Amino acid sequence: MERNNLITVTSPLMPNLDDFNEMLKDIWERKWITNNGHYHKELEEALCEYLKVPYISLFTNGTLPLITALQALRITGEVITTPYSFVATTHALWWNGIKPVFVDIDPITGNLDPDKIEAAITPRTTAIMPVHVYGTPCDTKRIQEIADKYGLKVIYDAAHAFGVEVNGKSILNEGDMSILSFHATKVYNTIEGGAMIMHDEKTKKRIDYLKNFGFAGETEVVAPGINSKMDEIRAAYGLLNLKQVDEAIEHRHQVAIKYREALKDVKGIRFLNDIPGVKHNYAYFPIFINEEEYGMTRDELYFKLKEKNIFGRRYFYPLISTFTTYKGLDSARQENLPNAYKMADSVICLPMYHLLTDDDIIRILSCIIN
Ligand SMILES: *Cc1c(COP(=O)(O)O)cnc(C)c1O
Repeated sequence: MERNNLITVTSPLMPNLDDFNEMLKDIWERKWITNNGHYHKELEEALCEYLKVPYISLFTNGTLPLITALQALRITGEVITTPYSFVATTHALWWNGIKPVFVDIDPITGNLDPDKIEAAITPRTTAIMPVHVYGTPCDTKRIQEIADKYGLKVIYDAAHAFGVEVNGKSILNEGDMSILSFHATKVYNTIEGGAMIMHDEKTKKRIDYLKNFGFAGETEVVAPGINSKMDEIRAAYGLLNLKQVDEAIEHRHQVAIKYREALKDVKGIRFLNDIPGVKHNYAYFPIFINEEEYGMTRDELYFKLKEKNIFGRRYFYPLISTFTTYKGLDSARQENLPNAYKMADSVICLPMYHLLTDDDIIRILSCIIN
C-alpha cells in the first residue's frame, strides 16, 4: 500500500528543545547576545577540537566567509573554479570583482580536475577555488603543487566537508583557507551559519576584524569589513548539535550502506563508494543515471519520484556556468566543460538524513528498482 507522506531530500538535525531552552535562559540572564559572546567562544573551541583544526572563525552563513576569504587574501583578477557547485562559490568571486574561470571536473568524483587547471592559468590568475563536492576530498596534493608552482592561493569551499578526514587528518587544513556552511540543509547546522578555517593566529585575528566591520579596537577600523558575525542563540544551538552530530553521521552511514547494497546490481545507476583512508560524512547520496542502460532519463526518474512524494534534488543542475551572469564567459562554453555537463545531466541526490527509516528507504528504492 502506498503511503502518501512526503520524503524530502534532507531534514535538519535539531537539538532537544528543553536543552535549548536551558541555554536560552542563560543567554537571557547574561544579556550578551552577539559580538563574540560566551557560547560563540565555546563553539569555536569545541569545533577546533572536533574538526582537528588549529583556528576557526564563526560566521553568520557560509557565503560570507567565502567573500571574506577573498578579501583577506587580497585576491584579484581571475580565479580558477568549478561550475559544478552551489552558486555561492562563484557569486563570492563576483562580489569581489573577480573573474571566474571555469575548469572541467573529474568524471567520477565531480571535483575540479587538477589535470585541466594549468591550461586555464593566465598572468591575471591569483587563486584556485575548488569545492569538495559531496564531501569527497579534492586531490589537494596536486592542487597545492600547481598553486606553489604558479604562486597562487588556494581557498577551499568545504561547505560539504564537515568532519571529513584523510588518513586521520582534517581535509579542512588544506590550502590557505577552508570555508564551511552550517546551513539547515547541511550535515551539521546552526540554522544559518558558517565558518572559516585558517592556519595561524594572526590570520584569525584579521578575519575576526573583517567580519566585524574591520574594527580592531573601540576606535580603530583597519579595513572595509563586513558584518557577518554569528549570534549567541545560534552558537548555543550549534553546541547542542555538535554533541549529536556523530550519531547523525552514523545513521547516514547506515542509510548509505543500504542504498549501495540495493543499487549495486541495478544497470545504469552509478553511485559513490567510500574511499580507503577517508572518514566520510555521508552528507549526500548522489546517483548518476545512464539513460541508455537504465532505460529512463534522469528527469523521468526525478519526476517519477516526485509523483510518489519523494523529493530528491538535482544537485548540481543546472551548472553555475549556465546562469545569466556567467554564461557569456569564455570558460563557460559547453565544449570546455564536457564532464560537468554530463554529471549535471545525470545526477539525483537521494533523500539522506538522520531520521530516514527503513520503510522510507524501501519506498524510495522501490521507485528506482524496476
Ligand atoms: C551551502 C553551500 C554554500 C553556501 O552556504 P550558505 O551557508 O547557504 O551561505 C556554499 N558552497 C556550497 C558548495 C554549498 O553547498
